[in-house]
Amino acid sequence: FSFSDPVPMGDTVNTVYKTANQPIEDRVNDLLSRMTVKEKLGQMTQIERAVATPDVIRDLCIGSVLSGGGSKPFEKATAADWADMIDGLQKGAMESRLGIPIFYGSDAVHGNNNVYGTTIFPHNVGLGATRDPDLVERIGAATALETRASGVQYAFAPCVAVCRDPRWGRCYESYSEDTQLVRKMTSLVTGLQGRPPIHHQNGYPYVSGRNNVMACAKHYVGDGGTDKGKNEGNTITSFDDLENIHMLPYLDCISKGVCTVMVSYSSWNGTKMHSHRYLLTDILKEKLGFKASIGIVITDWEALDRFHDPYGSNYRSAVSSAINAGIDMVMVPFRYQLFLEDLAYLVESGEVPMARIDDAVERILRVKFAAGLFEHPMADRSLLDIVGSKPHRDLAREAVRKSLVLLKNGKDPRKPFLPLNRNVKKVLVAGKHADDLGYQCGGWTATWEGTSGRITTGTTILDAVKQAIGNNTEVVYEENPTIKTLSEHDFSYAIVAVGEAPYVESGGDNSELTIPFKGDQLLKLVAQKIPTLAILISGRPLVLEPSVLETLDALVAAWLPGSEGDGITDVIFGDYEFHGRLPVSWFKSVDQLPMDSHQNSYDPLFPLGYGLKCKA
Ligand code: BGC
Repeated sequence: FSFSDPVPMGDTVNTVYKTANQPIEDRVNDLLSRMTVKEKLGQMTQIERAVATPDVIRDLCIGSVLSGGGSKPFEKATAADWADMIDGLQKGAMESRLGIPIFYGSDAVHGNNNVYGTTIFPHNVGLGATRDPDLVERIGAATALETRASGVQYAFAPCVAVCRDPRWGRCYESYSEDTQLVRKMTSLVTGLQGRPPIHHQNGYPYVSGRNNVMACAKHYVGDGGTDKGKNEGNTITSFDDLENIHMLPYLDCISKGVCTVMVSYSSWNGTKMHSHRYLLTDILKEKLGFKASIGIVITDWEALDRFHDPYGSNYRSAVSSAINAGIDMVMVPFRYQLFLEDLAYLVESGEVPMARIDDAVERILRVKFAAGLFEHPMADRSLLDIVGSKPHRDLAREAVRKSLVLLKNGKDPRKPFLPLNRNVKKVLVAGKHADDLGYQCGGWTATWEGTSGRITTGTTILDAVKQAIGNNTEVVYEENPTIKTLSEHDFSYAIVAVGEAPYVESGGDNSELTIPFKGDQLLKLVAQKIPTLAILISGRPLVLEPSVLETLDALVAAWLPGSEGDGITDVIFGDYEFHGRLPVSWFKSVDQLPMDSHQNSYDPLFPLGYGLKCKA
């Protein structure tokens, strides 16, 4: 073949691929037969919004665009702004020779969290604590609506990592250290994509319609099992452990028709996952059933640049091993010209067989047809009203309520401290985390790494306390109360929130895991003077010194609850009972990590599954 080979356009009016009621496989074959090699390689390319223009998309027949960490945050942009931006790019795609639509991907990992005014749900670790797959499915459906409203048809979720070490900066993106619990939470896929009908072919990619988005099971495989919890590190295990601990959730996602699987930056026993032909093709595509007829395997962001040391060197060899290993779409994300040139060279020289390219492109087209993109390439603005709507906020609030884990209630267990009485004279609320929506949401919110402040619409813990408390109760807030404040006022009790600041990916790797911002000192200072409920806002367990734990009257792990702080007051004031149970083991000291609840030596502070009730 040659790149300039003319490809017959055939009948351009009654084309099979453009006809909605033709079988998807016929549409795929018809379209594939009309494509040039250049167009095929373009379809395999996903680029960042920062470099995407309608012209680039049209001229190169680009397959997909994303908003990842590399695009400047689209500050305070609403769902309508996003829809306009994405439709603009889609116009370029529709003007390409064959009119193949792009899909737009974004990290809608706890709600459509990049977009201003959306409902932000608890991060996965909190959802793991709820142990409620039905709730997670409903969250998936709500997220799909808010995501699709912004023109995005593809969410890089769920993360089905099984986090075996909380030193990992992505612990909060994992539902649990327990594989079986993670498996149950793959109900998010059904929520995002819709529930396939009974006659649906097992594993075939499925998107129910315009209220749903394509999902992505990530990061295949073993991302949560790396040595010392290092992000993008090395997972050292037998194949049996890899399969039984880390791989099983993918089986569940595939059986639910997940459209895509994202490959992990990490390595397995020293080999990068992105070049692992055995794990990507023999296992994922053949054994687990993500077969010939099934969806797309996509790289992680700029993963091919991270193959070699130094960074980005010998890119062509990375492209070759990744595509030959079974990657179908490459999140390039910037150097698309280089990628396309290198891949073209590899195809022309025979290093990457044409059959491999055709297989990849078939998968991409199949998903595009299954997702109805040819019929509905543009955003559906009738969905805009649902963004951040009351029913969705109520759902998020329910999730927050169910995610809270009560770790301590009363210095003397016979005299429970919670629920709190809302009709007292004066209450102290303290700690930065009690009044910072950004901290409450964590990473992957508003910006890639997350940030502080009123980053979107929602309710902080302080807002929620003010709403929940009786009319005759005074609420005093101090971020860092002094001894003077503590002794001048006659407080009935204090609610003190401490925890982590937002972080993402490697930025969250941490081998100390102490409570940041001198949280220990703040807790002790207040608790020594006033009866105190401590609320921990964090993506994972943190060290709880015995001297701190003793002084507290009650302690609640609230994880990273998202935009609805009133889920917390619902429970601490007793309108609802505590429900959450630990999805991860709470260690006593970091020397115990990684902990394994199946080992005889298991000696946690609070075991996996722990969680008290108020009315014990
Ligand atoms: C992360 C993925 C994410 C991707 C796109 C990567 O850095 O590892 O989880 O989906 O970026 O933003």
